[in-house]
Amino acid sequence: RPSFRERLSKARGTVSGYLGSILSRSAIDDETWDDLEEALIRADVGVGPATEVLDAVRARVKADGIESPEVLLEAVKDEVKARLHVDDRTLHSDEGETNVWLFVGVNGVGKTTTIGKLGKREAEVGRTVVMAAGDTFRAAAAEQLGTWAERCGATLVRGAEGADPSSIVFDGITKAASMGADLLLADTAGRLHNKTNLMDELRKVRRVAGKEPGHVTEVLLVIDATTGQNGLAQARVFTEAVEVTGVVLTKLDGSAKGGIVLAIQADLGIPVKLVGLGETADDLVAFDPDEFVDALFA
Ligand code: GDP
Repeated sequence: RPSFRERLSKARGTVSGYLGSILSRSAIDDETWDDLEEALIRADVGVGPATEVLDAVRARVKADGIESPEVLLEAVKDEVKARLHVDDRTLHSDEGETNVWLFVGVNGVGKTTTIGKLGKREAEVGRTVVMAAGDTFRAAAAEQLGTWAERCGATLVRGAEGADPSSIVFDGITKAASMGADLLLADTAGRLHNKTNLMDELRKVRRVAGKEPGHVTEVLLVIDATTGQNGLAQARVFTEAVEVTGVVLTKLDGSAKGGIVLAIQADLGIPVKLVGLGETADDLVAFDPDEFVDALFA
């Protein structure tokens, strides 16, 4: 299996040229700072976070008398890591309860796939998993989820065509509770058939999911890394509608915009908990900022 670093090759490719040219010079000069800024912006770190990082690095270069480009790059990595630091990235659940993890996000970002991968992972550690096919916009979503459920021995709850997503989620919770299941993974739609407001629907799903016997311990916002700053703008709308507890950043394997991780945390103030590095079950991994930054700036 390719390493984390190898799977980030697209994102690394974006910055490696700039880093190479920084390292090829014997001193830190104006061009160094231009290259550094360009590398961060190209990686889609966002203007605000990039400026913050650069200002902090400049201050360190001055205070510590840094003269070598190598040491400068280490300072950049440190500053980026410091900005990615959060105390807790775990996925929360309570023993002996039917925990509900709700997945929200725009159509096509990878919600259904993420639920499948996560369901498999949780089933492998011995937890009983139920999946609710709450994405009633995409006809294939329930089939897709069904395939994942079958693979990992999870129970699938789906509704009739055009059923109310919140009722499917509620049926899922009722089923999970009656089975004494540990986890209900609930898919939601990223688009609607009718004119009902998507955010109103999400709020309703969230409300219903929290009703007895439901116990919502995670609301995970799924973001497609390849969409960069645009995806971030869309994501913001979801965080305004429901209280999001974590981000799943998918398709990082196919993205040149790895710096979006920093923009997400700086902008939304929500920790990235998981990253998707491909389409198979093993391609969903816990986000480790040190590993990520070291790979990105290698
Ligand atoms: P949904 O509409 O949000 O439920 O999106 P899907 O789960 O159907 O995913 C859309 C597409 O993205 C599918 O073809 C998935 O296989 C693909 N996908 C999901 N996550 C990843 C990932 O981490 N990496 C890659 N390369 N593809 C992914």
